[in-house]
Amino acid sequence: MYNSYLKDIKTYEAGKPIELVVREFGIESQDVVKLASNENPLGCSEKVAQAIASSAQKASLYPDDSMYELKEALSLRFGVTAKEIIIGAGSDQVLEFISHVVLNSASKILRSAVTFAMYDIYAKQFGAQILTTPSYQHIADEFIEKIESANPDIIYICTPNNPTGDATTREEVFKIINAASKDSLVVVDCAYMEYVEEEEYKLVPKDFINCDNVIYLGTFSKAFGLGGMRVGYGIANENIINMLYKVRPPFNISSLSLLAAIEASHDIDFVTKSVALNREEMKRYIDFAKKYEIEYIPSKTNFITLLFDEKHNSSEIATNLMKKGVIIRDLASYGLNAIRITIGTKSQNSKLFEVLSQELQYRESIESKTV
Ligand SMILES: *Cc1c(COP(=O)(O)O)cnc(C)c1O
Repeated sequence: MYNSYLKDIKTYEAGKPIELVVREFGIESQDVVKLASNENPLGCSEKVAQAIASSAQKASLYPDDSMYELKEALSLRFGVTAKEIIIGAGSDQVLEFISHVVLNSASKILRSAVTFAMYDIYAKQFGAQILTTPSYQHIADEFIEKIESANPDIIYICTPNNPTGDATTREEVFKIINAASKDSLVVVDCAYMEYVEEEEYKLVPKDFINCDNVIYLGTFSKAFGLGGMRVGYGIANENIINMLYKVRPPFNISSLSLLAAIEASHDIDFVTKSVALNREEMKRYIDFAKKYEIEYIPSKTNFITLLFDEKHNSSEIATNLMKKGVIIRDLASYGLNAIRITIGTKSQNSKLFEVLSQELQYRESIESKTV
């Protein structure tokens, strides 16, 4: 009865919700610290919260399906036209549209060794083959070798990359794009671009708008603080956007989501404040990692990935932290003995440092007793 392509798909494992920790460990929800899904620890803009509260009656109306105002806001922000934009229920939905219009069972996708899990899940739904480069970093020469030998249909560049936090320079990104064949689509997933400070790593949609085969993806879920509203976007030349529109269901984001994203676009100060907090708190994580001699990947995002040696097991650490009310992301399913921690508020981070240092010291003490 079922589509045989689905056999091989492992269901996407989302960050554990606060409700689960409340239920299973009896911890009060206000005492649970969730640093697992790269959400904005400041919540969302106060203007957004007020707009949602005062527009509750919009729940009965379908949203403006042209999404005129939101596209207008994005046009202004990025210097592109409304026809070059498609809105999705999260950029995840734009990834789904892309997979629909490009992939079939003879297709191939190319990605780095460790990157966003949804690329594979969508590829597998269409029976497409998944090719990976050897490194988790996006190394142009590694991509070019695969492009030349296998001519993939979709090439994913996730910069900054999730779940590793590193970014790819503009120069390397363009090397990959220039090597891609004209009949493959290059997807540049920039979910964390708002956090990037150095010019050499910054990308904007306009960089690619004159390319026939590149699409830029962005989202309101991270720096804009709207993960729960599910709004993302793809920006590319009109031909690509027109193709994606063929598979878009009508009213694909809710009225309140649309309103929230429009309001959020008008409060860039909130994003600036969020990015500044992130920068300050990231320094404390680096100090922590150095103090406990934990290897980490320097991050250009709102999360940091800690890599453990054989003395520690990332899954055990994640479980034990959860029992103490701190949710982080175990990266064992990515083949790494590592955890990914979203940078929280000052007090959330202090709590994480407290429980993680206890956990690490506890392990050390067991270790020394058994020796
Ligand atoms: C969070 C994330 C997305 C999409 O998030 P949405 O909430 O669906 O917009 C896309 N790509 C990467 C790499 C992400 O980390």
